[in-house]
Amino acid sequence: MTPSSIRPVWVGTSWKMNKTLAEAATFVDELLAVPIPSGIQVFVLPPYTALASVRSRVPEDSPILLGAQNAHWAPEGSWTGEISMRMAKDAGATLIETGHSERREHFGETDRTVARKAAAAVAYGLIPLICVGEPLAVRDEGGAEDFVRVQLQIALSELAPAEISQVLIAYEPIWAIGEHGIPATIDQVAPVMALISDVVTVAAGGPVRAVLYGGSVSTQNAREVLSDPNTHGLLVGRAAWQASGFIELLKLCAPLSGAGAGQSTIYSRTLPWTTTAALL
Ligand code: PEP
Repeated sequence: MTPSSIRPVWVGTSWKMNKTLAEAATFVDELLAVPIPSGIQVFVLPPYTALASVRSRVPEDSPILLGAQNAHWAPEGSWTGEISMRMAKDAGATLIETGHSERREHFGETDRTVARKAAAAVAYGLIPLICVGEPLAVRDEGGAEDFVRVQLQIALSELAPAEISQVLIAYEPIWAIGEHGIPATIDQVAPVMALISDVVTVAAGGPVRAVLYGGSVSTQNAREVLSDPNTHGLLVGRAAWQASGFIELLKLCAPLSGAGAGQSTIYSRTLPWTTTAALL
């Protein structure tokens, strides 16, 4: 690996159904007031209502990518309450999260709709952030890896290998997410991250952009999670909803980002489609 080809550590937060426009502005202003540690690729997934206003607050050259927490696969039409990829892009999204377990549980998201959304995102030059993860009962029966393998294979089924190499994957075991989540141990996470790495590497014919971990990540466990060689970043909910918490996490992850050892490619505003060689 040459100094100019160090992979950044991805650290991002989804605000889920939180923040008014004023609250979103306060978060962004606090975040922009501190230097982003080098080697960290930051991303923020505001609610739709705040996406455009957050975009207008984040300078063009800021190393902060923005995304939507969901978008529909259809280009336009009679889909009350939905927004299209084109609309999300227009509002400032570069990333499109899809398949979050809360959307699967409460809003009928399935592996098939995740696949359609991933393909639609790619068609608009957006980067799908595909979430996978097993429920507790499946893990207790020893089925976590098989469950995630199937989720992933279906999610990627409408993408060509070169497209798969550009996606972001987030492993988020359902039992580890949210207020009642039980933080996972590295021993629980590592085998699934290795499995994901295998599946996506085969499907893409090479490495993918990044595989992230999410689920009760905090300053307590972030460094341990990132010590896994197949984990390239973090998707954080509650611990990053206050800018101060997010900033603390970014600082904590900086020593793991290769900062000082070389130059990572960090993107602002747009995340280009590139060859896999340039991603590593
Ligand atoms: C999530 O729901 O994607 C998430 C990572 O949440 P939390 O960090 O709050 O568990």
